[in-house]
Amino acid sequence: MMRILAISDKINLPRLVAAAKSLNPKELVVITSAEANVPADKLIIAKLGDGLNECWVKLVEEQLDGYDLTMMPSTRNFKEIAARIAARKEIPYLSEVLDVRLEEGIVVSRMIFSGRGIEVLKTQLPAILTLNLDPYEPLEGQPSSVEELEFNCSPQVKLLERREKEAEVDLTKAEVIVSVGRGLKKKEDLDIIRELASLLGAEVACTRPISADFKWLPEERHVGMTGVRVKPKVYLALGISGQIQHVVGFRDAETVVAVNIDPEAPISEVSDYMIVGDLYEVVPKLIEEIKRRKS
Ligand SMILES: Cc1cc2nc3c(=O)[nH]c(=O)nc-3n(C[C@H](O)[C@H](O)[C@H](O)COP(=O)(O)OP(=O)(O)OC[C@H]3O[C@@H](n4cnc5c(N)ncnc54)[C@H](O)[C@@H]3O)c2cc1C
Repeated sequence: MMRILAISDKINLPRLVAAAKSLNPKELVVITSAEANVPADKLIIAKLGDGLNECWVKLVEEQLDGYDLTMMPSTRNFKEIAARIAARKEIPYLSEVLDVRLEEGIVVSRMIFSGRGIEVLKTQLPAILTLNLDPYEPLEGQPSSVEELEFNCSPQVKLLERREKEAEVDLTKAEVIVSVGRGLKKKEDLDIIRELASLLGAEVACTRPISADFKWLPEERHVGMTGVRVKPKVYLALGISGQIQHVVGFRDAETVVAVNIDPEAPISEVSDYMIVGDLYEVVPKLIEEIKRRKS
């Protein structure tokens, strides 16, 4: 029977607690930064100020002893925190964990190669995990006890300013997306892509080179591993080769339609429909046909 320490921000906490409870621990202690309604044996509300990751590392390092397993959500911040603590304490750390079970220690499945494969690993306890929490249903309920913890860690890194990003679009909510890649020859040609998108009631998206390298579209429109993950009903991929770093971003789309001059392009393997052709010929024809049907 294990003692588990779960550490999380407020949003991910109910799912993290569900993951921890699925292991049937003898004791589950949660550390978070705000009040929360989760069925833990003890909820510790840590007042960290603007201590950032550095303070989380120091706090968890102090609290960690005596627990068999420490679990955190697989977010950018907690992955950094977990790695730093594991290194200081010299205990195993497994990231991107999809599921975990007990078996003389623990056995976990974790994603590798941007989700292309899964590996199964076994380790002795104590250990630290950061988990992908999508498969878990949030669990709510009264904690048995609540404790407030003032933690002043005097961080070396200080927060100077936080600025909200002025996002022009939220692609995660789009039902139809017209996405463009390096098959597009110049920025001005975005006009026909926008015209097609407008006729379809779609949002315009792109691959990373279009936003990050060419700066033809803002960063928030790039789909993929380092961009936005979308799940539209239709994803129209124009002049996009289909590299894995892009594909992971639209994996949950219901229907994928690709237009590419190269029949062997990897996008053909992940598309429901593929038009082998020049987007400069196909897009005007699509526009013409949609206009004809609308009139
Ligand atoms: C760490 C890392 C993270 C990354 N993260 C991301 C990410 O989040 N998102 C992302 O998108 N990329 C990402 N990338 C880049 C990724 O690896 C690819 O380089 C990128 O997705 C390719 O973009 P593309 O398909 O537009 O260009 P290309 O690979 O150059 O493909 C262009 C395609 O257009 C076709 N084409 C050319 N002309 C026409 C035409 N006239 N009509 C029709 N088709 C035409 C070609 O046949 C080709 O298939 C990442 C890379 C790294 C290393």
